[in-house]
Amino acid sequence: MFKALVIENDAQQGYRAELRDMDESHLPKGDVTVRVDYSSLNYKDGLAITGKKPIVRSFPMVPGIDFAGVVEESRNPAYRKGDMVFLNGWGLGETRWGGLAQKVRVNGEWLTRLPEKISAKDAMAIGTAGYTAMLAVMALEKNGITPDKGPVLVTGASGGVGSFATAFFSRLGYQVTASTGRPDSEYLVKKLGAAEIINRTTLSTRGNPLMKERWAGAIDSVGGQTLVSVCASIMYGGAVAACGMAESLDFPGSVAPFILRGISLAGIDSVKCPVEKRNAAWRRMAEIVDPVLLEEISHEIRLEEVLDTIPELMGGRIKGRVVVRVD
Ligand code: NDP
Repeated sequence: MFKALVIENDAQQGYRAELRDMDESHLPKGDVTVRVDYSSLNYKDGLAITGKKPIVRSFPMVPGIDFAGVVEESRNPAYRKGDMVFLNGWGLGETRWGGLAQKVRVNGEWLTRLPEKISAKDAMAIGTAGYTAMLAVMALEKNGITPDKGPVLVTGASGGVGSFATAFFSRLGYQVTASTGRPDSEYLVKKLGAAEIINRTTLSTRGNPLMKERWAGAIDSVGGQTLVSVCASIMYGGAVAACGMAESLDFPGSVAPFILRGISLAGIDSVKCPVEKRNAAWRRMAEIVDPVLLEEISHEIRLEEVLDTIPELMGGRIKGRVVVRVD
C-alpha cells in the first residue's frame, strides 16, 4: 500500500481532493515504477487541486507536476532498480498521474537521471521554474548573448522562473537588471545577484515601438505590454527569451525592434522539450546551482500537509519554492 493525493470530480460529491491509501493495482500503465522521495508544490498544482482552472483532464487524477525518487521496477532497458531519477512536464498531474504520491508508474522515456551533484530534494527545489530559466539562458546563449555583450534583464524577478534566471545569469557573470513589482522582494532579488532593480510599471506602461537600447538580452516570464517594452529596449542584434504570461498572453507590439534592430525572440517550452535539451539544461544547473541558495529559497512540507498548504499558496502568501517530502 502507498499514499497518494487523489482528485475526483463527479456529479454526487463534486470536485474534491483527498489523501488516500492505494495499492499497486491502481497505478497507471508504464514501464518504470518509481518510489517517490520528493515532489514540489506549484501554482499549477494549486489550480488543479482546487479546480479553479481546468488543469486536470481526466479523473481520478493524482496531482503534482514533478517528482524525484528511486526506480523500484523497470521494464525499460535504460533504467534499473535503484537508479535515481526525476521527471517534470510531460502532462504530469494534468493528463497523467503526477508526483504527489509515494509511488508512480510512468513511461521511462520521460524520466531524467539525477545529475551526480543534484539530490532528489535539490531537483525539486529547482523544479520546473529553475529548469525553464536554464532553458531560457541557453536560448540566449544560442543567440550569441554572452556577458561581454552588455547587461541583461529579467522580468517577474521575484517569481519562480525570474529568481532562478537572476541567479543563473549572475553566476555566469552577466550584469543583471531585475524588474519586480514587489518592494519587499528587493532584498531577495539583490541576494540572487541582481546589480540593478527597476519597478515593473516602467515596462508594463505603453511606450514607443523603439526605446533606448538598454539590454543585450532578456528573460521574460510576464508577456503582454511588458514583453513589448522589453523587445523595444533590447540592443541591436540582441535577443529575448519568452517564458510566460504572468501579465498577459497577448503580445500587443510592433515589428520595429525585429526589423530595425535585428533582435530575436526565442520561445521557451519546458513541457515537451526534447530529452537531449532537458539533459543539457540539468547538466548546466548541476555545474552552477548553489545548494545554500536552494536551501534558503525553499521550504519543506510533508505529503500530509499539502491540502492545508494550498490556501496559502493560492493566496500568494508563500514565498519561494515548496518542496514536498513524500517518502
Ligand atoms: P510566479 O507566480 O512564481 O512568478 C511570476 C512573477 O511575475 C511574479 O512573481 C511577479 O514578479 C510577476 N507578475 C505577476 N503578476 C504580474 C503582472 N500582472 N504583471 C507583471 N508581472 C507580474 O510564476 P513562475 O515564475 O513559476 O512562472 C512565470 C510564468 O512562466 C507563468 O506565466 C508560468 O505559467 C510560466 N511558465 C512557463 C513555463 C514554460 O515552459 N514556458 C514553465 C514554467 C512557468 P514581480 O512581483 O517580481 O514582478
